Amino acid sequence: ANERIAFLEKELKFARAEYARLDIGALESLEAMLHDTRGKNQKLENDLTKLRVVEKEWLADQDLRHRYELKARECRRLLNTLIDYKGAIRIFVRVRPPKMENLSQVDANKTVLHFPENRLLALSDMDSLDVPEKSWEFDAVFNPKSTQTQVFAEVEPLVYSVVDGYNACVFAYGQTGSGKTYTMDGPENDRGVWFRATDSLFSILEQRKTEALENEVIDFTVKVSVLEIYQEHVRDLLAITALHEGPDAEDEESAEDSADEGAVRPRNKKSPFSLEIMHHPKTGYVYVKDAVEETVRNAKDLHAVVERGKAQRRVGVTNMNERSSRSHIVLLIQLVTKVFEVGSKTPKAQSRSKLQLIDLAGSERAANIEGVGERLRETCYINKSLSALGDVMHALQNNDSRHIPFRNSKLTSLLSDSLGGKAKTLMIVQVSPQKRNMPETIRSLDFGMRVGKICLSDNAPG
Ligand code: ADP
Ligand code: MG
Repeated sequence: ANERIAFLEKELKFARAEYARLDIGALESLEAMLHDTRGKNQKLENDLTKLRVVEKEWLADQDLRHRYELKARECRRLLNTLIDYKGAIRIFVRVRPPKMENLSQVDANKTVLHFPENRLLALSDMDSLDVPEKSWEFDAVFNPKSTQTQVFAEVEPLVYSVVDGYNACVFAYGQTGSGKTYTMDGPENDRGVWFRATDSLFSILEQRKTEALENEVIDFTVKVSVLEIYQEHVRDLLAITALHEGPDAEDEESAEDSADEGAVRPRNKKSPFSLEIMHHPKTGYVYVKDAVEETVRNAKDLHAVVERGKAQRRVGVTNMNERSSRSHIVLLIQLVTKVFEVGSKTPKAQSRSKLQLIDLAGSERAANIEGVGERLRETCYINKSLSALGDVMHALQNNDSRHIPFRNSKLTSLLSDSLGGKAKTLMIVQVSPQKRNMPETIRSLDFGMRVGKICLSDNAPG
């Protein structure tokens, strides 16, 4: 932490020199921000918001604007540094509201989970449970009353990071019924992370375009894939859709924009049911061979592609809920940024980053290996991939950078360039507040603590 503070201090000095002439109080607020990081991370959240407000004010002032444009990138660099300070891997918990049907039951409204402080979660009422009283601490805790908007406010900085060229991923982890899909997808009238992140992405991109220097043009390309990992096979839900719609449905479009990018392959007619995960030999960039990558021009198009992928998940599956609890679904959004000199056709700078939003398979089966045949096999695969994910995150938190076991599962292999390094990771551990779910809830919270930063301290429970 001290090293980081020293680094931040250096950054601040740099920012001071750069922004001095703007003289609008920004420095003071940056300085305050830095001081506050010594105490609480929470304060930092507010300060980051403040920084954005300052940015907006600068943008609104035409006189300052051209000077601001020159400095905007430095400002964002600082912002990313501060996000880094909060930790490359962060763990949130979201507690689902109790189900209505249970209100009539004896332990109805009585929830055994409590929220003593902002980032704390405690378990009590031990009389009726044979588990010891426990408490857990996370980077953020969302209680049953927290809204989709509140949750997304904490996710949105990652979208900014992706626009700035970083890879990021957001997971929803938890037992079946704990609210993973609610958080990621959400009901139609109250959308979750998938939709809000894509809306946010396009509005940030629009803003960035207007911030280009006078002699520059910034061009963004957004490509979407919808993947499912089921029994250690990567399935391409968009390709499956295309098969149903007829083989050439979108071929013209994807052929034209696949020519210029090394890592992007044109799709062929291979089976979309078991795709290979590849690493770009030079950049290390991970991609799925032959996966459909739909180029989308706005949030509405992106939403439509997501809906198509989701619909496809149901095809050939007798019970949607059963299936969805046993596979991981990955919404992969790739962003290619090119900066051109006005009048030039070759980009002078180019970057590629991605945002992966993942609704994980239900974690409960990882604990109880039971059942026979197909069910047993599914259980083993989920067990394998979720524990591989836990192991990878745990290893990253312990800075054991040489022995990160990415290859132990398809999931971690797919995410190997988005976990660790400069990438930003957010895991939302979903839990149910109800008594009958307590054993699973405790397991999930312990999992979150293990993969989270705070688990490094000796007094971690479990
Ligand atoms: P999972 O995907 O983890 O299996 P779901 O997201 O399907 O769980 O949630 C289970 C049920 O609980 C659904 O009916 C869902 O609408 C409801 N639910 C989950 N989280 C919330 C929430 N925060 N607010 C309201 N209802 C929720
Ligand atoms: Mg679900």
